[in-house]
Amino acid sequence: MLQTPYYLIDKARLEPNMEKIAWLREASGAKSLLALKCFATWSVFDFMAQYMDGTTSSSLFELRLGAEKFGGESHGYSVAWAEHEFDEVLTHADKVIFNTIGQLERFGAASAGHVRGLRVNPGVSSSDFDLADPARPFSRLGEHDPARIAEVLGQVSGFMFHNNCENDDFERFDAMLGHIEVRFGALIRQMEWVSLGGGIHFTGSGYPLERLAERLKRFAGEHGVQVYLEPGEAAITNAATLEVTVLDTLFNGKHLAIVDSSIEAHMLDLLIYRSSAKMLPNEGDHEWMICGKSCLAGDIFGEFRFPAPLRPGDRLSIQDAAGYTMVKKNWFNGVKMPAIVLRELDGTERLVRDFGYDDFAAALS
Ligand SMILES: *Cc1c(COP(=O)(O)O)cnc(C)c1O
Repeated sequence: MLQTPYYLIDKARLEPNMEKIAWLREASGAKSLLALKCFATWSVFDFMAQYMDGTTSSSLFELRLGAEKFGGESHGYSVAWAEHEFDEVLTHADKVIFNTIGQLERFGAASAGHVRGLRVNPGVSSSDFDLADPARPFSRLGEHDPARIAEVLGQVSGFMFHNNCENDDFERFDAMLGHIEVRFGALIRQMEWVSLGGGIHFTGSGYPLERLAERLKRFAGEHGVQVYLEPGEAAITNAATLEVTVLDTLFNGKHLAIVDSSIEAHMLDLLIYRSSAKMLPNEGDHEWMICGKSCLAGDIFGEFRFPAPLRPGDRLSIQDAAGYTMVKKNWFNGVKMPAIVLRELDGTERLVRDFGYDDFAAALS
């Protein structure tokens, strides 16, 4: 038996998401690029690349990882490119996307002859969290003024919009796309491609995929553009778990179990957005609080129900551990970083990466 903690990526759970993505491309013509900031575990890239068109990035390193390990099309985007990295950016990017007109102008000469795009901020978003809302007041994410954008149209062939966040409501997506069309339609019709970003939860059960396909196809047809989507979370949702073992239990008004992992170190995104981890099955007469082994007082995965009292040695499986999880793991408290295990379609499990003391020491000097 494999030693915990480890992230377990299950290809059988990844496959249905991939099939929906491939179906959507077939039905709508929209290409899908994996957003690496959400998920960059490259051991499954060869599998995912059978269904997706390439990758999109938030930095030079992600861009390079996508180009080298995933292949297909590589969109290079960054909130701000640095002078010293830009030549290398051009060697990996099929399209380089600038966040501002200022950056487009600064790198105008250097990028002449390359396919270029500009991030446009439509000023609306589906996010309820200020922290993750690209349309928050004074947002630095993209240009918002159609008149200013019109002045640089000759230098770009496409736009990137990203204003959805785990949006599982098709009507809301439809309305936001309508808003974009009203405000930027005349500019879009002068472009060759438009990326609508990520944040559309179209792989979720019950999502009206046919309606999304029809809407994207109509958008592409009416404006004469190749549409791209940049799914992060939607591509890998539910595809991985974090496997942990109970190390100790105590009763302190509630039943507590301490596991060989840490929410701060291994599922940081949940802590940032103050949400509970998910545990399955979550039923039974015994309620337990599952706690991490770092010394942070609030290192708590959540409270869950179990059929029997927990004991040291029990194995637990924390759900939905792929998106914004593995990319954010860190060495806080020196807690052993979870290994990475792949479960193949035939059910065999394979350790693809382990982390030890040398990795911990190498992360600092
Ligand atoms: C974060 C991000 C994505 C991926 O978003 P998900 O919500 O994970 O689908 C795509 N494109 C851009 C520009 C992003 O910033």
